[in-house]
Amino acid sequence: MKARAFSYFRAATIDQALDAHARAGDDARFIAGGQSLVPALSLRLQATRLLIDITHIDELRGVRREGDALRIGALTRHCEMLSEPLIAEFAPLLHAAAPFVAHPAIRNRGTFGGSIALADPASEFPAMTLALDAEVEIAGPSGRRRVKADNFFIDLFETALQAGELITAIYVPLFKVGQRFAFDELARRRGDYALVGCGMLATCTDERIDDIRISFFSVGNTPTRVKGVEATLIGARLDAERIAAAQGALEGDLAPPDSDEVPPAMRLHLARVLLGRLLGRLGEGA
Ligand SMILES: Cc1cc2nc3c(=O)[nH]c(=O)nc-3n(C[C@H](O)[C@H](O)[C@H](O)COP(=O)(O)OP(=O)(O)OC[C@H]3O[C@@H](n4cnc5c(N)ncnc54)[C@H](O)[C@@H]3O)c2cc1C
Repeated sequence: MKARAFSYFRAATIDQALDAHARAGDDARFIAGGQSLVPALSLRLQATRLLIDITHIDELRGVRREGDALRIGALTRHCEMLSEPLIAEFAPLLHAAAPFVAHPAIRNRGTFGGSIALADPASEFPAMTLALDAEVEIAGPSGRRRVKADNFFIDLFETALQAGELITAIYVPLFKVGQRFAFDELARRRGDYALVGCGMLATCTDERIDDIRISFFSVGNTPTRVKGVEATLIGARLDAERIAAAQGALEGDLAPPDSDEVPPAMRLHLARVLLGRLLGRLGEGA
């Protein structure tokens, strides 16, 4: 099968990309790594009259420190999440998640911004932006704004992005002394989308948790923070009793939908197992 015919425009600047989109109306798409969009066009699940190539816009590239945050340009490829030293040092949760995203060929082209814009609830990076309390920087016809990850993912493949808006960068608070993180996922085969996945970031003093953010993926329509579970852990030491209590609270936070692949009760069970493992690692100083 081939995609329906479309025109192609290569933008050199953000303004050019936004102008081209505005002129084409709803019938245009930005393309970054193309790892989700091209298959969708080729299978005719989607169609567009105009593809706006954003991969030559310098302002969307690069990883750098800005104050107490790491600015990760939207065009940062999944493979760079593994190779970029600043990400390993200041956003180690993203570095830990990166090898689980698809396969090397896809990681060589797929971009961080593309993954966040697509907001696949089974994807690793959108969920990790929630755990990291990241902010998404957006450029659009009416200017620039930043949206907290907590407010960005609205429903299945629906985000705070309005038509014609572009993600320019994601800002991640710098990893600090006293913080711990853990990430893992359960999948049938390495490289497959996860049956359940989870990442967490905690701030600890003397083995007690001052603050923790835990985010799951592949458990519903959006990446999902488990705030009830988080609340059971504040001020606590991660001993077996507390971990069991956190696992018990999970049911109040997650309501996996029915699916042919995994019944909801099984997915909840897998989420509980994963939560226990990751909290155990966190308690060991992961
Ligand atoms: C076989 C296969 C397995 C995969 N497995 C996984 C996996 O395990 N985990 C995972 O997370 N992903 C997986 N993916 C998806 C892959 O990671 C994609 O690269 C990613 O989801 C989208 O990034 P992209 O740069 O390729 O975006 P594109 O395909 O170029 O675009 C995707 C969507 O985002 C929009 N978009 C892109 N960039 C921007 C931007 N800066 N601002 C606004 N909108 C933008 C596009 O218009 C389009 O609607 C898999 C893909 C394939 C083909």
